[in-house]
Amino acid sequence: GISKTFGDLQALDDVDFEVRAGEVHCLAGENGSGKSTLIKIITGVYQPQKAELFELFGETVRSISPTGARNRGVSVIWQDLALFSHMSVRENICFDDMVGLKPKAVHYGEMDRKAHAVLERLGVPLELDMPLEALSIARRQIVAIARALMNDARLIFMDEPTASLSRSETDHLLDIVHKLSADGVAVVFVSHRLAEVLEIASRVTVLRDG
Ligand code: ADP
Ligand code: MG
Repeated sequence: GISKTFGDLQALDDVDFEVRAGEVHCLAGENGSGKSTLIKIITGVYQPQKAELFELFGETVRSISPTGARNRGVSVIWQDLALFSHMSVRENICFDDMVGLKPKAVHYGEMDRKAHAVLERLGVPLELDMPLEALSIARRQIVAIARALMNDARLIFMDEPTASLSRSETDHLLDIVHKLSADGVAVVFVSHRLAEVLEIASRVTVLRDG
């Protein structure tokens, strides 16, 4: 069980959490119940109170770093999306493949092919040269999902992805979540809106007071 304290506050107390391959799993619970903290521990942003054993895709791991999580196929769509607004769609989608390489070592042609393939998989054609800041929040979210798929994500956490979307944008995102799930990608979806949860989730975990 995962435990986490912040000073005197016990944010998570012995929480067990399991996601099945390809399922849409809703993580529900009121504000402050520990949902984001749980996601941050599973994806290596925070370390838990005690050494924790995680089983990821059949492999047991003792501790996880953000890079380790990504390399193992676990990605997060953060509430603030963690994108670069002054960069292009291409640079945002391909960021993890480009970072650390010298400009001449980047295979732009191949990257573009892969980025187009990922966007096609999501059913959303986007112009790769477009500056990110020209896109709506809903489109930026798709860029963040595309970036996860570029990293071959098999498990994607979405932390309150619908909070700032309109009804039709929400419907479109739910379609994309269905598509990912049909492709074998598990999605853990955080939402307050019960209607959304019931519409999309195959299983639900409710956190209460950690
Ligand atoms: P949720 O995502 O379900 O709204 P959080 O995981 O963000 O809940 O927060 C769980 C509890 O931990 C809350 O009481 C919150 O104030 C506290 N908390 C979260 N992150 C920190 C932090 N970095 N430092 C101190 N307290 C935190
Ligand atoms: Mg939260």
